[in-house]
Amino acid sequence: MIPLELVTKTLAAALRSGGDLAEVYVEDRTSLNLTMEDSKIETALRGEDRGAGIRVFFGDLVTYAFTDDLSEASLIAAAHAAAAAAQGSSYVQVIDLTQRQSPLEFPIVKSFDSMTIADKTALLCRADEIARAYDPRVRQVLGGYQEVNRKVWIFNSEGLHVEDDRNIVELRASVVAQKDDVLQRSTIAFGGQKGLEILDEHEWDTEVRDTATTAVKMLDAKPCPAGEMTVVMPNGWGGVLFHEACGHQLEADFITKGASAYAGRIGEQVASPLISAVDDGTIPGRRGSLRFDDDGTPSQRTQLIEKGILKEYMWDLTEARRAGRATSTGNGRRESFRHMPMPRMTNTYIDAGESDPDEIIAATKSGIYIKMMAGGQAELAKGDFVFSATEAYLIENGELTTPLRGATVMGNGPKVLTEIDMVGNDLALDPGIGTCGKGQAARVSVGQPTIRIPRVMVGGTA
Ligand SMILES: [Zn+2]
Repeated sequence: MIPLELVTKTLAAALRSGGDLAEVYVEDRTSLNLTMEDSKIETALRGEDRGAGIRVFFGDLVTYAFTDDLSEASLIAAAHAAAAAAQGSSYVQVIDLTQRQSPLEFPIVKSFDSMTIADKTALLCRADEIARAYDPRVRQVLGGYQEVNRKVWIFNSEGLHVEDDRNIVELRASVVAQKDDVLQRSTIAFGGQKGLEILDEHEWDTEVRDTATTAVKMLDAKPCPAGEMTVVMPNGWGGVLFHEACGHQLEADFITKGASAYAGRIGEQVASPLISAVDDGTIPGRRGSLRFDDDGTPSQRTQLIEKGILKEYMWDLTEARRAGRATSTGNGRRESFRHMPMPRMTNTYIDAGESDPDEIIAATKSGIYIKMMAGGQAELAKGDFVFSATEAYLIENGELTTPLRGATVMGNGPKVLTEIDMVGNDLALDPGIGTCGKGQAARVSVGQPTIRIPRVMVGGTA
């Protein structure tokens, strides 16, 4: 993208007034976004964005400058801007920038351009036709297709030179059904770090029809009862609760600020002994996977919690340096070259337990089973959460009975984690559609097996 000689010059310019580590981050991104609403294509947007960020570390101080102009003059000017806050004159010699390869393989079988935009648009229009043809109560179908290719090059004055090539694809259709004043929405969505072979792994037409079926079926759901009760959470996407209500508190910036319930508690029992939790950025095909993070650190699998014991936090380079750690855990991520990295999750999940998921339901005398989670909110540093369900069922005497609408679950993440009393053997990751917001957007995966929370507050519509 830019010649190594220019990288070397830029790094030297960034360190000209001191600083102990300088970095050049170059990004070249292309994207395609298609959206459909009211049976017609609303958006068809091709995007291109490229630029570079220059970061300089002065002990604990970090400065950053970025430019969308990759010319020599502009890069050197950005380097001087980043260097401007320097004290002292500890010039660091820039050394060998031989590229380091990742052993990780994230294969792309069918490239994004193996289908035309018209073909991709047709997928969304077909979803509209299928869902509306299913039942007249289907009132709206929202469709979306997104592909992003993001190439990054990361160099630093310690000789780091790595590259990553991230391909993310995502397809979704939301079906809204209406009966009188009741609206129900059901969504099919999938994606990942892969090419268009993902379409061969799914039956789009069938999955859209199933989604319409669910939206219409839920129109007859009964209002959800409210109060404290036992809640069984689904595998896969259900892991969003752990991500939002506990995962963020394991990110090192919340830890060093002392804002997290998990600060200073490594080695302590922080969860039920049934709970082990992992962040793993190395899984092929997953949306949060990286060969190298945005600090250039190789991605890794990090055991966060093991049998209830807190083992590790998620670190980026800045926080690792501040804490005097030798390495980060490869969790430094940034939305684009316009942003500095911060500690972020990659693919984060609660690991499999031993219970048969059917036995978890069978062992529950009364409660609710959430089959499909919708959105939710959590206070990231404290873990207080409110999540809603688009599909839920009453559990009576160990069996799923009445469909329920309007179910919300609220509580505190770290507290719930100590109380979970059954963990299934059916670990699954989500369908590959998650985006985490923490000031900057980051694509992530979540996951979990079926879990049971013995007592948690359910807000209903009854
Ligand atoms: Zn998040």
